[in-house]
Amino acid sequence: MPSPETHARIQARLRELHERCVPEAPGSVQHYYASGRGYYAPAEAGVEAQQFAISVVTVDGAVYEAGDSRLPFPLHSISKVFAYGLALTDHGPERVLERVGVEPSGDAFNALRFDERNRRPYNPMVNAGALVVSDLVRGDDADEQFARILAMLRCYAGHDDLTVDAATFEAEVRTADRNRGTAYLMRSLGMLEGEVETVLGLYLRQCSVPVTCAALATMAATLANGCVNPLTGVSAMPRKRVRDVLSVMHTCGMYDYAGSWAFEVGVPAKSSVSGGIMAVIPGKMGIGVFSPGLDVYGNSVRGVRVCKEISERLGLHVFATEAEDALLRGAPLSA
Ligand code: GLU
Repeated sequence: MPSPETHARIQARLRELHERCVPEAPGSVQHYYASGRGYYAPAEAGVEAQQFAISVVTVDGAVYEAGDSRLPFPLHSISKVFAYGLALTDHGPERVLERVGVEPSGDAFNALRFDERNRRPYNPMVNAGALVVSDLVRGDDADEQFARILAMLRCYAGHDDLTVDAATFEAEVRTADRNRGTAYLMRSLGMLEGEVETVLGLYLRQCSVPVTCAALATMAATLANGCVNPLTGVSAMPRKRVRDVLSVMHTCGMYDYAGSWAFEVGVPAKSSVSGGIMAVIPGKMGIGVFSPGLDVYGNSVRGVRVCKEISERLGLHVFATEAEDALLRGAPLSA
């Protein structure tokens, strides 16, 4: 753990970064998303335009926060990461690979397109893949499957009170025709086994679990720490599955920006329509950013900027040279 002085210095750096990233470049925010309402124009945004949080949790358990880091927002697509980990744990990668690929699709996250050669969704980070993954989670019925997903999310976050937000879930189910259509199509093609409404409900319940940015950073830090939550010491998933999950995040986690993200930022990450980004720096830290203004790819405008700056400043790109790595140079975060 850092000394109190170092902690205060890093905390001050994070606040500076937060302040610097408040202004969004003109035209960079394309839309916002709210359950039930769908996408809407920046001109119609209210307080959500100001909401902005950054949290960092290191693998040795130091916590840094700036902005609205205790404001809850629904996990949405970020939940796909954890459900995939659970399906892998339940069945092993070979069996899961038979049902869901690991190829970036090049299509939108909610595209009605599949890997037809292999008769499976392209990857678990698009909706088609996430629906099959939810169906794969073990349990006698959907309630038991979901109870297992929720228990695991709580472990990652270190919060026993994580639960579904009923209003979000109800709005998601009401407006889920595209996901419903995807599920029906997959069932007709033999890719999905469960009943459509059951699988859909399972997937949308996990999307509707609110987390704070601080909890999101803890979840990322748990992945960075071999799946042992650095704040509670509890393991959320077997260590050997972390590699599989991070690989898919690295190639498919940032919608249609995933390639550019891997090139420029170079850390496994997952983003969501609610404006969250969770980035994992293996062996070092987890980063959570929350700001609802979304860019043309559907990623948080401020979130992308924050992650780019932190990665660049600290030399965190997975393929950076040792000389670029500020942490190796002994200048943790405050360099
Ligand atoms: N609940 C949303 C959906 O499935 C989540 C999408 C996302 O965050 O990308 O459509």
